[in-house]
Amino acid sequence: MKSLSILGSTGSIGVSTLELVAAHPDRFRIEALTAGANLDLFARQIETFRPRVVSVLNEELALKLSGMLSGPGPKPEIMHGVLGLIAAATATDARMVVAAIVGAAGLVPTAAAIKSGKDVALANKETLVCAGSIIMDLVRDHGVALYPVDSEHSAVFQSIEGHRSEDIEKIILTASGGPFLETSSARMATVTIADALNHPNWTMGKKITIDSATMMNKGLEVIEARWLFDVPAAKIDVNIHPQSIIHSMVEYIDGCVIAQLGTPDMKAPIAYALSYPERVATGVTPLDLTLFSGLTFFKPDMEKFRCLKLAYDALECGPSMPAVMNAANEVVVAAFLEGRVGFTAIPRVIEETMAAHEAVALVTIEDVLLADRWGRRKAVDVIKKINGDV
Ligand code: NAD
Ligand code: MG
Repeated sequence: MKSLSILGSTGSIGVSTLELVAAHPDRFRIEALTAGANLDLFARQIETFRPRVVSVLNEELALKLSGMLSGPGPKPEIMHGVLGLIAAATATDARMVVAAIVGAAGLVPTAAAIKSGKDVALANKETLVCAGSIIMDLVRDHGVALYPVDSEHSAVFQSIEGHRSEDIEKIILTASGGPFLETSSARMATVTIADALNHPNWTMGKKITIDSATMMNKGLEVIEARWLFDVPAAKIDVNIHPQSIIHSMVEYIDGCVIAQLGTPDMKAPIAYALSYPERVATGVTPLDLTLFSGLTFFKPDMEKFRCLKLAYDALECGPSMPAVMNAANEVVVAAFLEGRVGFTAIPRVIEETMAAHEAVALVTIEDVLLADRWGRRKAVDVIKKINGDV
């Protein structure tokens, strides 16, 4: 029986993870759950899975949640804020922490989980984008396992097993291309929030759905792959593959390519991270390749999808630049989702924020948080300038 703590249980990844837990009660047990502000769903999850510790965004929500948990049976310890996230990540008997919070907010609790000796199933790619080198050092120093949940990285993980890292020629991450693959650059300036949220293949949280539309998501994944698999950026390629059937590939020095395929459903990579090295039933629709008239692949247009180029630039520039890029992206994506800027402001704000940043070395998580805060402040200023508010 593996005990789990899920950070971000009310999100898209969190809900899929709990569906897998419910399907395998003989394998998985829940020790802790955390959520932001979606209390109705969270209260239902707590009544169903009976965690010992739970946490929400702030004290007011914690009090409200306490009032909602009036059913029979023992009440969980209800915490809030960053301390609540850290408690859920560390202070229970959980063997594995599922890091499924969105954004840089996932960094501190994920680092805390690693330091307290927990294995981590990592959906929160922003943790590795902001602090890849520090996190991988922590993973080594604390002797824990870090399993990728991101479908591309799960595919690479599965394609790499049993091979020597020196035999890897290249990692090829696939990308659907998002909803604007066929949209002209000129038309991209006028797309709406609803257009950008209309992803062709995956149903996900709003932030990652916008990241997929700008292709920043693939940029974040290039950085994530660099740290997870210790491969330089020059050996990480992106192929657009609109059908999302091949989830990624690894090319070896002998010219052989190993790929992982499947119906696009996050339950498959989540289950592999939870049950590694075993496999469990997921309910994912089996893949029937005869139903596809063709699988296509081509190179991304880095001018049209400027965010992908910016992510490669940030990785090349190094230490604090990826954290600043990520911070600017979070700020401008939130602004887009609130209708305060247009879609094409997203790469512009990130690029201007990065241009103003002088990269510095990152030694501690606190250094990363400083870079993150700097990036957020700068991005807010850039948005004000674009909107003529200064
Ligand atoms: P989501 O928005 O659906 O859910 C996010 C969860 O985190 C929710 O439970 C929310 O309440 C919680 N949360 C958000 N901000 C928080 C904060 N500041 N403090 C505490 N809790 C907070 O997001 P998602 O789509 O499930 O994505 C989660 C992570 O997984 C992201 O990093 C994303 O890039 C990654 N990921 C998601 C998918 C997918 O299919 N959804 C695929 C690959 C990777
Ligand atoms: Mg992915």
